[in-house]
Amino acid sequence: MKIALVVNPYSGGKKTEKMLPRVKQSFRKRRIHADIFLSRFKNHVQGIARNLAVSAYDAIVAMGGDGTNFHLINGLLAVHPPEDLPSLGIIPTGSGNSFVKDLGIHSVDQAVEAVVRDTPRPVDVLKFTQDKQAFYFINLMGLGFVTDVAQTAERFKAVRDLSYLIGVAHRTLSLKFHHMELVIDGKPFSGKNCFVEFCNSRFTGGNMCMAPEARIDDGLMDIIIAGPMKKKRLISALPKLFTGDHLSMDEVSCIQAKKAEIQTTPAKVLLPDGEIFGRAPGMISVLNRKLNYLT
Ligand SMILES: [Mg+2]
Repeated sequence: MKIALVVNPYSGGKKTEKMLPRVKQSFRKRRIHADIFLSRFKNHVQGIARNLAVSAYDAIVAMGGDGTNFHLINGLLAVHPPEDLPSLGIIPTGSGNSFVKDLGIHSVDQAVEAVVRDTPRPVDVLKFTQDKQAFYFINLMGLGFVTDVAQTAERFKAVRDLSYLIGVAHRTLSLKFHHMELVIDGKPFSGKNCFVEFCNSRFTGGNMCMAPEARIDDGLMDIIIAGPMKKKRLISALPKLFTGDHLSMDEVSCIQAKKAEIQTTPAKVLLPDGEIFGRAPGMISVLNRKLNYLT
């Protein structure tokens, strides 16, 4: 078996760089030939993916976090239709590693075994379209408070583990709601919201179960809408995200849909697969079982 291993060495606070020799050795032992492609700068993974000779490989494997996989699939799908791609894999060495949990992968060793096993599973991918431009995400995409938090966290990157806590604290203290005009499977939903997440898989930020009922191959996205709530209420809701209990709150609803349109103006920053990337307005659709992941 021959694979392309696309590695973001900076992922997970350089955890990926430290793990790489071990992963290389595991593949060598299992007689898997891995061509290594190292990301050297921000978003380089997309460029690497665009230039990969995909037909030369039995699988293309991202080593890093959810962001690494996001840039990998976007580079690949920018130049190839999904049906031309070989199986995809993820070695989870990022800080979040949310999507792989729904593939039943919880460690680097399990991920290596999944590549060795070579039994791909078809999964959905969500496509965001604006005019003629498109990008893809496989975990979830946020809008509103969650994006605000990520933008603040980005400014405090130097204190890595604390940056999200700082983001949540700062944005909760200065909490503002976002006016959103959404059309979900043809039905309008307009109003002020705390945040909206368009989910393909269940988890975000590693262990937060944003969409407990989401399935990655049912042809539907789970849209979690958190309406306006008091600061105190928002703070009390945060621990509920780890168990999925936030869905029982009156302010929170979950809608399963095939298509969703974000019509909000002015343009709003988006957070697909944990990356600050792209802007609404735009249209989200589900491409049912279009990518094959090793599991
Ligand atoms: Mg689904």
